[in-house]
Amino acid sequence: MVITVDGPGGAGKSTVSRNLAARLNFAFLDTGAMYRAVALCALGEDAALADLDPERRKTWLEGIKLELLPGGVALDGRPVEAFIRNGAVASAASHISALPEVREYLLGRQRAAGRRGNLVAEGRDMGTVVFPEAELKFFLTASEEERARRRFKDMALRDPQLTLAEVRREMAGRDARDLSRTLAPLRPASEAIIIDSTGMKEEEVVALMLARAQKIAGVRLTGFSL
Ligand code: C5P
Repeated sequence: MVITVDGPGGAGKSTVSRNLAARLNFAFLDTGAMYRAVALCALGEDAALADLDPERRKTWLEGIKLELLPGGVALDGRPVEAFIRNGAVASAASHISALPEVREYLLGRQRAAGRRGNLVAEGRDMGTVVFPEAELKFFLTASEEERARRRFKDMALRDPQLTLAEVRREMAGRDARDLSRTLAPLRPASEAIIIDSTGMKEEEVVALMLARAQKIAGVRLTGFSL
């Protein structure tokens, strides 16, 4: 069974999805981390990925050794979680995520994870493009102000110089790009359950999702006492 959780940045998708996966004993797929890892790799190159022709882009992507380990993403066997959670990489990720070759490359990796068994997959296009057949789809959002505040709280620990205004600007730019791109734009799948988490606690969102999962899958869920 695949459960998808899509939504804009700062909506709390990662925390909630990770928690939901743990409660259900499902694997967790953080697709934002995959885009961020590719962006980190691209930032280290002389030529911008967007300036390469499609064939060279494909070859470049095939050369990346991207792994999803329990502790996060790794490149060439090196864990890179600590290097991908910053504004520069987030912004680069949102730019390279509009490139068809990048989306195609990651889509293959993401679907392969879905074939391995029960999964909670979070991102922007999980319910619409990557797992259109998923049994349960959520679209998690929150007011722009609350999303900026949550993101700021998260990032300020790593970067004390950061201001709320900067986070808000960066997030608004990314949201606009994610919403307006031609390929796999951010939008809820028609059958997605939309949750506005403004003013909600993380546990409340997870409880709501668990209740839906229970209703749909009932006894098929492993590790989940009914
Ligand atoms: O979710 P996160 O903030 O880590 O995602 C970083 C960027 O990767 C997003 O702004 C978005 O542009 C891109 N992304 C995407 N499709 C996904 C997940 C992330 O385009 N499924």
